[in-house]
Amino acid sequence: MAFKVPRGTQDILPEQTPKWQKVESVLRELSRVYRYKEIRTPIFEQTELFQRGVGDTTDIVQKEMYTFDDRGGRSLTLRPEGTAAAVRAYVEHKMFGYPDQPVKLSYMGPMFRYERQQAGRYRQFVQYGVEAIGSADPAIDAEVISLAMDIYQTVGLKDLKLVLNSLGDKETRDAHRTALIKHFEPSIGEFCSDCQNRLEKNPLRILDCKKDHEHPLMSTAPALTDYLTESSAQYFNQVKNYLDVLGIQYEVDPNLVRGLDYYNHTAFEIMSTAQGFGAITTLCGGGRYNGLVEDIGGPDVPGIGFAMSIERLLLALEAEGVELEVGDALDIYVVAIGEEAKLKSAELISSFRTKGIAADMDYVDRKMKAQMKSADRLGAKFVIVIGESELEENAVNVKEMESGNQEKIEFHNLVNYLLEHK
Ligand code: ATP
Ligand code: MG
Repeated sequence: MAFKVPRGTQDILPEQTPKWQKVESVLRELSRVYRYKEIRTPIFEQTELFQRGVGDTTDIVQKEMYTFDDRGGRSLTLRPEGTAAAVRAYVEHKMFGYPDQPVKLSYMGPMFRYERQQAGRYRQFVQYGVEAIGSADPAIDAEVISLAMDIYQTVGLKDLKLVLNSLGDKETRDAHRTALIKHFEPSIGEFCSDCQNRLEKNPLRILDCKKDHEHPLMSTAPALTDYLTESSAQYFNQVKNYLDVLGIQYEVDPNLVRGLDYYNHTAFEIMSTAQGFGAITTLCGGGRYNGLVEDIGGPDVPGIGFAMSIERLLLALEAEGVELEVGDALDIYVVAIGEEAKLKSAELISSFRTKGIAADMDYVDRKMKAQMKSADRLGAKFVIVIGESELEENAVNVKEMESGNQEKIEFHNLVNYLLEHK
Protein backbone atom coordinates (compact mmCIF):
# COMPACT_ATOMS: atom_id res chain seq x y z
CA MET A 1 0.00 0.00 0.00
CA ALA A 2 1.31 3.41 -0.93
CA PHE A 3 0.78 6.13 1.63
CA LYS A 4 -0.29 9.65 0.71
CA VAL A 5 -0.60 12.91 2.60
CA PRO A 6 -4.05 13.24 4.16
CA ARG A 7 -6.62 14.96 1.98
CA GLY A 8 -6.45 18.73 2.21
CA THR A 9 -2.86 18.77 3.43
CA GLN A 10 0.38 19.16 1.54
CA ASP A 11 4.07 18.48 1.86
CA ILE A 12 6.20 21.53 1.43
CA LEU A 13 9.20 20.21 -0.46
CA PRO A 14 12.79 21.42 -0.22
CA GLU A 15 12.38 23.28 -3.54
CA GLN A 16 9.52 25.26 -2.02
CA THR A 17 10.69 25.90 1.54
CA PRO A 18 13.00 28.81 0.60
CA LYS A 19 9.91 30.72 -0.56
CA TRP A 20 8.12 29.94 2.66
CA GLN A 21 11.12 30.98 4.70
CA LYS A 22 11.37 34.23 2.79
CA VAL A 23 7.70 35.05 3.49
CA GLU A 24 8.13 34.05 7.13
CA SER A 25 11.11 36.37 7.45
CA VAL A 26 9.10 39.27 6.01
CA LEU A 27 6.34 38.51 8.53
CA ARG A 28 8.81 38.42 11.42
CA GLU A 29 10.53 41.59 10.31
CA LEU A 30 7.30 43.56 9.93
CA SER A 31 6.04 42.24 13.29
CA ARG A 32 9.22 43.69 14.75
CA VAL A 33 8.85 47.04 13.03
CA TYR A 34 5.18 47.42 13.99
CA ARG A 35 5.94 45.93 17.41
CA TYR A 36 3.58 42.97 17.48
CA LYS A 37 5.40 40.48 19.69
CA GLU A 38 5.06 36.83 18.93
CA ILE A 39 2.94 34.57 21.14
CA ARG A 40 3.01 30.78 20.79
CA THR A 41 0.01 28.86 22.04
CA PRO A 42 -0.72 25.12 21.87
CA ILE A 43 -1.94 23.49 18.68
CA PHE A 44 -5.01 22.21 20.55
CA GLU A 45 -7.29 23.83 23.10
CA GLN A 46 -10.42 22.93 25.03
CA THR A 47 -13.23 22.61 22.51
CA GLU A 48 -15.36 25.02 24.49
CA LEU A 49 -12.89 27.84 23.91
CA PHE A 50 -13.71 27.84 20.21
CA GLN A 51 -17.43 27.33 20.75
CA ARG A 52 -17.36 30.42 22.91
CA GLY A 53 -14.67 32.41 21.17
CA VAL A 54 -15.45 31.75 17.51
CA GLY A 55 -19.19 31.35 17.98
CA ASP A 56 -21.65 28.47 17.97
CA THR A 57 -23.39 29.57 14.77
CA THR A 58 -20.25 29.82 12.63
CA ASP A 59 -19.28 27.36 9.91
CA ILE A 60 -16.02 26.78 11.73
CA VAL A 61 -17.67 25.52 14.90
CA GLN A 62 -20.57 23.77 13.22
CA LYS A 63 -18.73 21.93 10.47
CA GLU A 64 -15.02 22.48 10.33
CA MET A 65 -13.41 21.58 13.64
CA TYR A 66 -11.15 18.62 14.28
CA THR A 67 -12.51 17.66 17.67
CA PHE A 68 -11.56 14.58 19.66
CA ASP A 69 -11.62 13.21 23.17
CA ASP A 70 -8.22 12.59 24.68
CA ARG A 71 -7.50 9.54 26.78
CA GLY A 72 -8.67 11.38 29.86
CA GLY A 73 -12.04 12.05 28.26
CA ARG A 74 -11.52 15.79 27.71
CA SER A 75 -12.86 17.27 24.52
CA LEU A 76 -10.04 18.96 22.65
CA THR A 77 -9.95 20.68 19.27
CA LEU A 78 -7.09 21.35 16.87
CA ARG A 79 -7.08 25.13 16.61
CA PRO A 80 -9.05 26.36 13.59
CA GLU A 81 -7.87 29.97 14.05
CA GLY A 82 -5.60 31.99 16.30
CA THR A 83 -7.63 34.73 17.95
CA ALA A 84 -9.45 32.65 20.57
CA ALA A 85 -6.20 31.16 21.87
CA ALA A 86 -4.39 34.51 21.88
CA VAL A 87 -7.22 36.03 23.87
CA ARG A 88 -7.34 32.99 26.18
CA ALA A 89 -3.63 33.47 26.89
CA TYR A 90 -4.11 37.22 27.33
CA VAL A 91 -6.77 36.58 29.98
CA GLU A 92 -4.98 33.64 31.63
CA HIS A 93 -1.73 35.60 31.99
CA LYS A 94 -3.50 38.81 32.96
CA MET A 95 -1.89 40.81 30.20
CA PHE A 96 -4.50 43.50 30.84
CA GLY A 97 -2.28 44.34 33.81
CA TYR A 98 0.82 44.97 31.66
CA PRO A 99 1.98 48.57 32.08
CA ASP A 100 2.12 49.13 28.33
CA GLN A 101 -1.21 49.00 26.57
CA PRO A 102 -2.51 47.97 24.15
CA VAL A 103 -0.92 44.52 24.18
CA LYS A 104 0.19 43.84 20.61
CA LEU A 105 0.59 40.16 19.73
CA SER A 106 1.41 38.23 16.58
CA TYR A 107 1.33 34.51 15.87
CA MET A 108 2.24 32.18 13.04
CA GLY A 109 1.51 28.50 12.77
CA PRO A 110 -0.70 25.72 11.44
CA MET A 111 -4.49 25.88 11.74
CA PHE A 112 -6.91 23.03 11.03
CA ARG A 113 -10.32 23.11 9.42
CA TYR A 114 -12.29 20.27 7.94
CA GLU A 115 -13.13 21.97 4.65
CA ARG A 116 -13.72 20.87 1.12
CA GLN A 117 -10.34 20.98 -0.55
CA GLN A 118 -9.89 23.44 -3.42
CA ALA A 119 -7.26 25.89 -4.57
CA GLY A 120 -6.40 28.10 -1.62
CA ARG A 121 -8.40 26.02 0.84
CA TYR A 122 -6.62 23.39 2.85
CA ARG A 123 -7.38 21.34 5.94
CA GLN A 124 -4.05 22.30 7.44
CA PHE A 125 -2.79 25.76 6.58
CA VAL A 126 -0.44 28.29 8.11
CA GLN A 127 -1.89 31.50 9.43
CA TYR A 128 -0.08 34.61 10.45
CA GLY A 129 -2.15 37.02 12.48
CA VAL A 130 -1.99 39.89 14.92
CA GLU A 131 -4.12 41.07 17.82
CA ALA A 132 -4.03 44.52 19.45
CA ILE A 133 -5.88 44.19 22.73
CA GLY A 134 -6.68 47.06 25.05
CA SER A 135 -7.35 50.01 22.78
CA ALA A 136 -10.53 51.36 21.20
CA ASP A 137 -8.66 54.06 19.31
CA PRO A 138 -9.47 54.19 15.59
CA ALA A 139 -5.76 54.84 15.00
CA ILE A 140 -4.98 51.26 15.99
CA ASP A 141 -7.57 49.93 13.54
CA ALA A 142 -5.68 51.79 10.84
CA GLU A 143 -2.34 50.49 12.13
CA VAL A 144 -3.53 46.89 11.99
CA ILE A 145 -4.87 47.35 8.46
CA SER A 146 -1.71 49.07 7.33
CA LEU A 147 0.46 46.24 8.68
CA ALA A 148 -1.54 43.74 6.61
CA MET A 149 -1.22 45.90 3.49
CA ASP A 150 2.47 46.44 4.15
CA ILE A 151 3.07 42.68 4.26
CA TYR A 152 1.54 42.13 0.82
CA GLN A 153 3.32 45.11 -0.67
CA THR A 154 6.67 44.09 0.82
CA VAL A 155 6.54 40.66 -0.79
CA GLY A 156 5.83 42.41 -4.10
CA LEU A 157 2.08 42.11 -4.65
CA LYS A 158 0.39 44.93 -6.55
CA ASP A 159 -3.10 43.74 -7.46
CA LEU A 160 -4.67 44.32 -4.08
CA LYS A 161 -8.01 45.62 -2.94
CA LEU A 162 -8.87 46.62 0.61
CA VAL A 163 -12.57 46.30 1.43
CA LEU A 164 -13.87 47.96 4.54
CA ASN A 165 -17.09 48.02 6.50
CA SER A 166 -18.36 48.91 9.91
CA LEU A 167 -20.50 46.47 11.82
CA GLY A 168 -21.31 49.21 14.32
CA ASP A 169 -22.07 48.73 17.99
CA LYS A 170 -24.70 46.67 19.78
CA GLU A 171 -27.48 49.14 19.10
CA THR A 172 -26.57 49.14 15.40
CA ARG A 173 -26.53 45.38 15.26
CA ASP A 174 -29.88 45.03 17.04
CA ALA A 175 -31.65 47.47 14.71
CA HIS A 176 -30.02 45.85 11.68
CA ARG A 177 -30.92 42.41 12.94
CA THR A 178 -34.61 43.30 13.15
CA ALA A 179 -34.48 44.70 9.63
CA LEU A 180 -32.73 41.59 8.32
CA ILE A 181 -35.27 39.23 9.81
CA LYS A 182 -38.04 41.31 8.26
CA HIS A 183 -36.23 41.21 4.91
CA PHE A 184 -35.51 37.48 4.73
CA GLU A 185 -38.37 35.92 6.71
CA PRO A 186 -41.06 35.86 3.98
CA SER A 187 -38.75 33.99 1.57
CA ILE A 188 -36.54 32.06 3.98
CA GLY A 189 -37.83 28.81 2.48
CA GLU A 190 -35.75 29.55 -0.63
CA PHE A 191 -32.53 29.53 1.38
CA CYS A 192 -30.30 26.71 2.54
CA SER A 193 -30.97 24.97 5.83
CA ASP A 194 -28.03 26.78 7.45
CA CYS A 195 -29.55 30.12 6.57
CA GLN A 196 -32.92 29.01 7.88
CA ASN A 197 -31.29 28.23 11.21
CA ARG A 198 -29.43 31.51 11.17
CA LEU A 199 -32.55 33.62 10.66
CA GLU A 200 -33.40 33.72 14.36
CA LYS A 201 -30.01 32.92 15.85
CA ASN A 202 -27.79 35.24 13.85
CA PRO A 203 -29.31 36.64 10.65
CA LEU A 204 -26.17 38.68 9.90
CA ARG A 205 -24.45 35.44 9.02
CA ILE A 206 -26.90 34.88 6.16
CA LEU A 207 -25.06 37.64 4.30
CA ASP A 208 -21.87 35.59 4.57
CA CYS A 209 -23.44 32.39 3.19
CA LYS A 210 -21.38 30.71 0.49
CA LYS A 211 -24.32 28.74 -0.95
CA ASP A 212 -26.95 31.44 -1.26
CA HIS A 213 -24.83 34.45 -2.12
CA GLU A 214 -26.42 34.75 -5.60
CA HIS A 215 -29.98 34.95 -4.21
CA PRO A 216 -31.57 38.27 -5.30
CA LEU A 217 -32.54 39.11 -1.72
CA MET A 218 -28.84 39.24 -0.82
CA SER A 219 -28.05 42.37 -2.80
CA THR A 220 -31.18 44.15 -1.60
CA ALA A 221 -30.66 43.26 2.05
CA PRO A 222 -30.63 46.17 4.50
CA ALA A 223 -27.08 47.48 4.82
CA LEU A 224 -25.42 47.75 8.19
CA THR A 225 -24.05 51.14 7.30
CA ASP A 226 -27.62 52.51 7.18
CA TYR A 227 -28.10 51.52 10.80
CA LEU A 228 -24.90 52.90 12.29
CA THR A 229 -25.50 54.90 15.45
CA GLU A 230 -23.98 58.35 15.54
CA SER A 231 -21.01 57.26 17.60
CA SER A 232 -20.42 54.19 15.40
CA ALA A 233 -20.55 56.33 12.27
CA GLN A 234 -18.11 58.72 13.86
CA TYR A 235 -15.75 55.89 14.76
CA PHE A 236 -15.90 54.57 11.21
CA ASN A 237 -15.13 58.04 9.84
CA GLN A 238 -12.10 58.34 12.07
CA VAL A 239 -10.76 54.99 10.90
CA LYS A 240 -11.15 56.19 7.32
CA ASN A 241 -9.41 59.47 8.15
CA TYR A 242 -6.42 57.60 9.51
CA LEU A 243 -6.30 55.35 6.47
CA ASP A 244 -6.38 58.44 4.25
CA VAL A 245 -3.45 59.93 6.14
CA LEU A 246 -1.53 56.67 5.69
CA GLY A 247 -2.28 56.76 1.97
CA ILE A 248 -4.17 53.48 2.06
CA GLN A 249 -6.98 53.16 -0.47
CA TYR A 250 -10.13 51.25 0.34
CA GLU A 251 -13.60 50.46 -0.88
CA VAL A 252 -16.53 50.45 1.51
CA ASP A 253 -18.70 47.35 1.09
CA PRO A 254 -21.79 47.59 3.30
CA ASN A 255 -22.40 43.85 2.94
CA LEU A 256 -18.99 42.75 4.14
CA VAL A 257 -19.46 40.69 7.26
CA ARG A 258 -16.76 38.48 8.59
CA GLY A 259 -17.23 34.78 9.15
CA LEU A 260 -16.73 34.92 12.88
CA ASP A 261 -19.32 36.04 15.39
CA TYR A 262 -17.30 38.32 17.57
CA TYR A 263 -16.73 41.28 15.31
CA ASN A 264 -18.05 44.81 15.75
CA HIS A 265 -17.15 48.20 14.31
CA THR A 266 -14.29 47.82 11.80
CA ALA A 267 -14.35 44.77 9.51
CA PHE A 268 -12.01 44.42 6.56
CA GLU A 269 -10.74 42.04 3.93
CA ILE A 270 -7.84 42.27 1.54
CA MET A 271 -8.43 40.64 -1.81
CA SER A 272 -6.23 39.80 -4.73
CA THR A 273 -7.48 41.28 -8.01
CA ALA A 274 -4.88 39.38 -10.04
CA GLN A 275 -6.13 37.63 -13.16
CA GLY A 276 -6.17 33.90 -12.72
CA PHE A 277 -6.22 33.93 -8.96
CA GLY A 278 -9.22 31.63 -8.96
CA ALA A 279 -12.50 31.73 -7.13
CA ILE A 280 -11.16 32.43 -3.68
CA THR A 281 -9.78 35.92 -3.72
CA THR A 282 -9.61 36.82 -0.05
CA LEU A 283 -6.07 37.00 1.23
CA CYS A 284 -6.69 38.39 4.67
CA GLY A 285 -9.60 39.07 6.98
CA GLY A 286 -9.84 41.00 10.16
CA GLY A 287 -11.75 43.32 12.37
CA ARG A 288 -12.61 44.64 15.78
CA TYR A 289 -13.94 42.38 18.53
CA ASN A 290 -14.89 44.47 21.50
CA GLY A 291 -16.86 41.78 23.34
CA LEU A 292 -14.54 38.83 22.91
CA VAL A 293 -12.17 39.27 25.84
CA GLU A 294 -15.10 39.46 28.24
CA ASP A 295 -16.76 36.44 26.59
CA ILE A 296 -13.62 34.43 27.26
CA GLY A 297 -13.64 35.35 30.94
CA GLY A 298 -11.55 38.52 30.99
CA PRO A 299 -12.38 42.13 31.68
CA ASP A 300 -14.33 44.27 29.23
CA VAL A 301 -11.39 45.16 26.99
CA PRO A 302 -11.57 45.99 23.27
CA GLY A 303 -9.46 44.32 20.61
CA ILE A 304 -8.74 44.21 16.90
CA GLY A 305 -6.79 41.84 14.69
CA PHE A 306 -6.47 40.05 11.39
CA ALA A 307 -5.39 36.69 10.03
CA MET A 308 -3.95 35.65 6.69
CA SER A 309 -2.68 32.37 5.36
CA ILE A 310 0.73 31.98 3.81
CA GLU A 311 -0.76 29.53 1.28
CA ARG A 312 -2.99 32.22 -0.23
CA LEU A 313 -0.21 34.78 -0.16
CA LEU A 314 1.97 32.40 -2.19
CA LEU A 315 -0.91 31.76 -4.62
CA ALA A 316 -1.26 35.51 -5.14
CA LEU A 317 2.47 35.80 -5.83
CA GLU A 318 2.12 33.08 -8.42
CA ALA A 319 -0.93 34.71 -10.00
CA GLU A 320 0.96 37.99 -10.34
CA GLY A 321 4.13 36.27 -11.50
CA VAL A 322 6.22 37.73 -8.68
CA GLU A 323 9.49 35.88 -8.02
CA LEU A 324 10.66 36.14 -4.44
CA GLU A 325 14.33 36.68 -3.87
CA VAL A 326 15.20 33.70 -1.74
CA GLY A 327 18.41 33.26 0.21
CA ASP A 328 19.38 29.67 -0.53
CA ALA A 329 22.44 30.34 -2.72
CA LEU A 330 25.39 27.96 -2.77
CA ASP A 331 28.58 30.01 -2.48
CA ILE A 332 31.11 27.38 -3.46
CA TYR A 333 31.29 23.81 -4.71
CA VAL A 334 34.52 21.93 -4.22
CA VAL A 335 35.38 19.33 -6.84
CA ALA A 336 37.91 16.76 -5.65
CA ILE A 337 39.94 14.32 -7.71
CA GLY A 338 41.40 11.47 -5.70
CA GLU A 339 41.32 10.39 -2.09
CA GLU A 340 43.85 12.91 -0.80
CA ALA A 341 42.09 15.79 -2.55
CA LYS A 342 38.86 14.69 -0.94
CA LEU A 343 40.38 14.95 2.51
CA LYS A 344 41.56 18.45 1.67
CA SER A 345 38.08 19.33 0.36
CA ALA A 346 36.46 18.22 3.59
CA GLU A 347 38.90 20.35 5.56
CA LEU A 348 38.35 23.40 3.33
CA ILE A 349 34.58 23.09 3.35
CA SER A 350 34.57 22.96 7.10
CA SER A 351 36.63 26.16 7.28
CA PHE A 352 34.21 27.86 4.83
CA ARG A 353 31.15 26.84 6.77
CA THR A 354 32.42 28.13 10.09
CA LYS A 355 32.57 31.55 8.40
CA GLY A 356 29.03 31.31 7.09
CA ILE A 357 30.00 30.44 3.53
CA ALA A 358 27.55 27.91 2.04
CA ALA A 359 29.72 25.10 0.67
CA ASP A 360 29.19 21.64 -0.73
CA MET A 361 31.10 18.75 -2.28
CA ASP A 362 30.52 15.32 -3.79
CA TYR A 363 29.57 12.39 -1.56
CA VAL A 364 28.61 9.78 -4.12
CA ASP A 365 31.93 9.20 -5.79
CA ARG A 366 31.21 10.95 -9.06
CA LYS A 367 33.72 11.61 -11.80
CA MET A 368 35.05 15.12 -12.17
CA LYS A 369 32.76 15.96 -15.07
CA ALA A 370 29.67 14.86 -13.15
CA GLN A 371 30.81 16.87 -10.17
CA MET A 372 31.13 19.97 -12.36
CA LYS A 373 27.63 19.41 -13.69
CA SER A 374 26.34 19.06 -10.18
CA ALA A 375 27.97 22.37 -9.19
CA ASP A 376 26.27 24.00 -12.15
CA ARG A 377 22.87 22.53 -11.37
CA LEU A 378 23.13 23.63 -7.75
CA GLY A 379 23.87 27.17 -8.94
CA ALA A 380 27.24 27.42 -7.17
CA LYS A 381 28.70 30.90 -7.42
CA PHE A 382 32.29 29.62 -7.30
CA VAL A 383 33.88 26.28 -8.11
CA ILE A 384 37.32 24.99 -7.25
CA VAL A 385 38.87 21.78 -8.52
CA ILE A 386 41.40 20.11 -6.25
CA GLY A 387 43.75 17.52 -7.71
CA GLU A 388 47.39 16.53 -7.32
CA SER A 389 48.92 19.76 -8.62
CA GLU A 390 46.71 21.92 -6.37
CA LEU A 391 47.79 19.86 -3.39
CA GLU A 392 51.42 20.34 -4.36
CA GLU A 393 51.07 24.09 -4.87
CA ASN A 394 48.74 24.68 -1.91
CA ALA A 395 46.73 26.91 -4.21
CA VAL A 396 43.73 26.56 -6.50
CA ASN A 397 41.97 28.39 -9.33
CA VAL A 398 38.74 29.88 -8.05
CA LYS A 399 36.30 30.03 -10.92
CA GLU A 400 33.37 32.38 -10.84
CA MET A 401 30.73 30.45 -12.73
CA GLU A 402 28.76 33.33 -14.18
CA SER A 403 31.67 35.22 -15.71
CA GLY A 404 34.02 32.27 -16.15
CA ASN A 405 36.79 34.37 -14.58
CA GLN A 406 39.45 32.52 -12.64
CA GLU A 407 41.87 33.63 -10.01
CA LYS A 408 44.60 31.59 -8.34
CA ILE A 409 44.27 31.71 -4.55
CA GLU A 410 46.36 29.96 -1.90
CA PHE A 411 44.40 27.57 0.29
CA HIS A 412 44.91 29.63 3.44
CA ASN A 413 43.53 32.73 1.70
CA LEU A 414 40.39 31.07 0.34
CA VAL A 415 38.12 32.01 3.25
CA ASN A 416 39.02 35.68 3.01
CA TYR A 417 38.71 35.67 -0.76
CA LEU A 418 35.24 34.13 -0.62
CA LEU A 419 34.08 36.43 2.16
CA GLU A 420 35.09 39.38 0.01
CA HIS A 421 33.58 38.13 -3.21
CA LYS A 422 30.54 35.99 -2.34
P1 ATP B 1 -13.03 32.02 3.64
O1 ATP B 1 -14.19 32.95 3.43
O2 ATP B 1 -12.03 32.03 2.54
O3 ATP B 1 -13.45 30.65 4.08
P2 ATP B 1 -12.72 32.69 6.38
O4 ATP B 1 -13.70 33.76 6.60
O5 ATP B 1 -13.02 31.31 6.83
O6 ATP B 1 -12.25 32.65 4.86
P3 ATP B 1 -10.84 33.56 8.34
O7 ATP B 1 -11.28 32.55 9.31
O8 ATP B 1 -11.11 34.97 8.59
O9 ATP B 1 -11.33 33.14 6.90
O10 ATP B 1 -9.28 33.36 8.06
C1 ATP B 1 -8.46 34.43 7.63
C2 ATP B 1 -7.63 34.03 6.46
O11 ATP B 1 -7.11 32.74 6.62
C3 ATP B 1 -8.36 33.97 5.13
O12 ATP B 1 -8.49 35.22 4.58
C4 ATP B 1 -7.41 33.10 4.35
O13 ATP B 1 -6.25 33.84 3.93
C5 ATP B 1 -6.96 32.12 5.37
N1 ATP B 1 -7.70 30.86 5.32
C6 ATP B 1 -8.89 30.57 5.90
N2 ATP B 1 -9.23 29.29 5.69
C7 ATP B 1 -8.23 28.76 4.94
C8 ATP B 1 -7.99 27.46 4.40
N3 ATP B 1 -8.85 26.47 4.61
N4 ATP B 1 -6.87 27.26 3.68
C9 ATP B 1 -5.97 28.26 3.49
N5 ATP B 1 -6.14 29.50 3.97
C10 ATP B 1 -7.26 29.75 4.70
MG1 MG C 1 -13.81 29.62 5.81
